[in-house]
Amino acid sequence: MQRIKKSSYVVNLNLNVRGLSPSATLQINERSNDLIQEGKTVYKLGLGQSPFPVPEIIQEALRRNAHQKDYLPVKGLMPLRESIAEFNYRYQGIKCSPEDIIIGPGSKELIFILQLVYYGELIIPTPSWVSYSPQARIAGRHVTWVPTQEDNDWRLSPEMLDLICQKDPDRPRIAILNYPSNPTGSTYPKMRLKKLAEVARKYKIILISDEIYSLIDHSGNHTSIAQYYPEGTIISSGLSKWAGAGGWRLGTFTFPPNLRWLQDAMAIVASETFTSTSAPIQYAAITAFEDHKEIDDYLYHTRRILKALGNYMATELKDKHLTMPEPKGGFYLFVNFEHYREKLAQKGIFTSIELGEGLLKDTGVAILPGVDFGRQSDELTFRLAYVDFDGINVLHQAFTEYAHKEIDVLFLQKYCPKMIDATEQIRQWLNGL
Ligand code: PMP
Ligand code: GLU
Repeated sequence: MQRIKKSSYVVNLNLNVRGLSPSATLQINERSNDLIQEGKTVYKLGLGQSPFPVPEIIQEALRRNAHQKDYLPVKGLMPLRESIAEFNYRYQGIKCSPEDIIIGPGSKELIFILQLVYYGELIIPTPSWVSYSPQARIAGRHVTWVPTQEDNDWRLSPEMLDLICQKDPDRPRIAILNYPSNPTGSTYPKMRLKKLAEVARKYKIILISDEIYSLIDHSGNHTSIAQYYPEGTIISSGLSKWAGAGGWRLGTFTFPPNLRWLQDAMAIVASETFTSTSAPIQYAAITAFEDHKEIDDYLYHTRRILKALGNYMATELKDKHLTMPEPKGGFYLFVNFEHYREKLAQKGIFTSIELGEGLLKDTGVAILPGVDFGRQSDELTFRLAYVDFDGINVLHQAFTEYAHKEIDVLFLQKYCPKMIDATEQIRQWLNGL
């Protein structure tokens, strides 16, 4: 049979997809891996992937469930939804029933489906995670980026949200609040959450509270905005970040009961698209959301490692006049190179993309430009993911040698050497400008 040449097809992509590139986070990962294959030293601070292993007790649950082979209910396995409802209460004091929960193959897919089924504009602060806006575009929704200020840690302010909604108060809207934040690493105090909740209530905004990093808030004290806006908040979460299980693809949405119509609409789309999330993963996830000391210990140690590393890097980079919010949760720093604008211009570097390319070429440090998070292209901001270390070994050392010692610079030098080197590479590069 003769092969049909690609050129014989009419290139006729849907307008909503035309011109889009693959997601920035995944592109930088593949690019870094290609460079490593070519023999280059690359510091992989691009993709935001947890370096820690999936807790052993959850891996064991997956092994026990390898035989699970049936399609599962569209909204998810009932014992898993029960386990998540109990977990929500235990960790957040959120009372919900298993019926309020839907499981998906990653929260990314659930956020997309929600945007597809609800007809409203999307409101997101700039900077925001790379995928919210392209998803809105694919679904054919309008995006309003809300300006933020660096001296306010790039956080959404209730006043600004109000100002935007005032212009057309009855317009249906989805807003996404993500904290601890990807890309900034900052979070919101209770007072600010209360004020944001008041604005959301005033304009009947459907609020997606993307709390996928909540369990790796470095202080272990995360408060869900669902406490203050229960009737309109959908809590988005999953296993990807706190359990180191990004590739397992399991995400969760917790709905308020009065938005059941929206949850049901999502389930219809799910039933016509992904059917149900992988059966062995759902069975294993029951254990992940149960109350186990192993899991609490794992979280305790991962948090203190991330806290020490984030603080170390922030201090070292600030010392070189880079600015950024204090790391409060997750594993990101959002770094501004504004101080070097003139020197960079002399090297022909005017945009964050050019700076990122230059840094990667000269030092092997891979980071993501602020433009991927909705910032202006000439702003010299970047997201740096502090995740390039051997999570299995680092966790083991924190559990053993450092069980009763504060994680200090010696620990980081010994067990996270690539992170120390990457920081030094950036500092040296700046010295050389
Ligand atoms: N929200 C944020 C802020 C993220 O960083 C990510 C990246 N994993 C997601 C949602 C999606 O996560 P997942 O699909 O793995 O649940
Ligand atoms: N959320 C991760 C990041 O921001 C990567 C996974 C993804 O984008 O789907 O880097």
